[in-house]
Amino acid sequence: MMDVCLAGTGGMLPLVRRYLTCCWVEVMGKAILIDCGEGTQVALSAADCHVNRMECLLITHFHADHISGLPGLMLTLGNHGKTTPLVIAGPSGIGRIVNSLLVIARQLPFEIIIKELNPKECESFDIAGLQVDTLPLNHKVPCLGYSITYHRKPVFNPEKAASLGIPVTYYKYLHKGENVEVDGNVYTPDMVLDGERNPIKVTYCTDTQPIETMVDFARGSDLFICEGMYFDEEMRDKMDEKHHMLFSDAADIASRAEVPELWLTHYSPALVNPYEYKDEICKVFPNTIVPKDGYKKTIVPADK
Ligand SMILES: [Zn+2]
Ligand SMILES: [Zn+2]
Repeated sequence: MMDVCLAGTGGMLPLVRRYLTCCWVEVMGKAILIDCGEGTQVALSAADCHVNRMECLLITHFHADHISGLPGLMLTLGNHGKTTPLVIAGPSGIGRIVNSLLVIARQLPFEIIIKELNPKECESFDIAGLQVDTLPLNHKVPCLGYSITYHRKPVFNPEKAASLGIPVTYYKYLHKGENVEVDGNVYTPDMVLDGERNPIKVTYCTDTQPIETMVDFARGSDLFICEGMYFDEEMRDKMDEKHHMLFSDAADIASRAEVPELWLTHYSPALVNPYEYKDEICKVFPNTIVPKDGYKKTIVPADK
């Protein structure tokens, strides 16, 4: 299972009833947060996300609405008793930005490990038991989209293990993919595992113009979260100029990527009621959600 929560849905400025966009992804009690605009710690609290489970923060780019909440969130983590390291990853230059912002949040009780990512190339790395993939987006400044994939362990077959005479205490090591030795006999995982299970994948892309590479990047996702600043086609020229997207752009990419579900995010502050366009946008991509802050879902694949 993977828990996903869009704690905030706004772009540019936090509003009284709309926090800035940020996405919480949690698997087995370990969490990754994507983006950290002003007030993110309040958005996470309002959405019941347990910040002390956070092991990694992924930053899409260095516009204030995606990173200026860092000092406040770090102080909140410290106040919640976090002592284990936190990885902060983002486009190259992230280390300099984090160090600058943390001038006002010194003496944190946990270590921060910086991971600089190439904003011009796709990269892949593992963190918190999850695979993170990046995609260079097309914004005014270097910007990355992220996919987070949970590769579930293969099915364990206890009958096979029992028929081989393996003591139950060794099952967990075999299930993790490790060899075990019992009374001089070596047992390997392939002897007791029954095939792969589908991974769970969520993809998050903001801020960007629509680009073709997003289609393949989102493909295979159980959930695609994508920016949509406005619904109205009259805003097309402004979106091109600002390197942002309309609702219909996100829906078009979701449709071509053949994802089962799309969540929109990063609404313009000028868009007072994005929810009124739900029926219209569902004509482009039927399973579009126009979420409010704190919208969440537990992704459970069909094969359990
Ligand atoms: Zn933004
Ligand atoms: Zn931006």
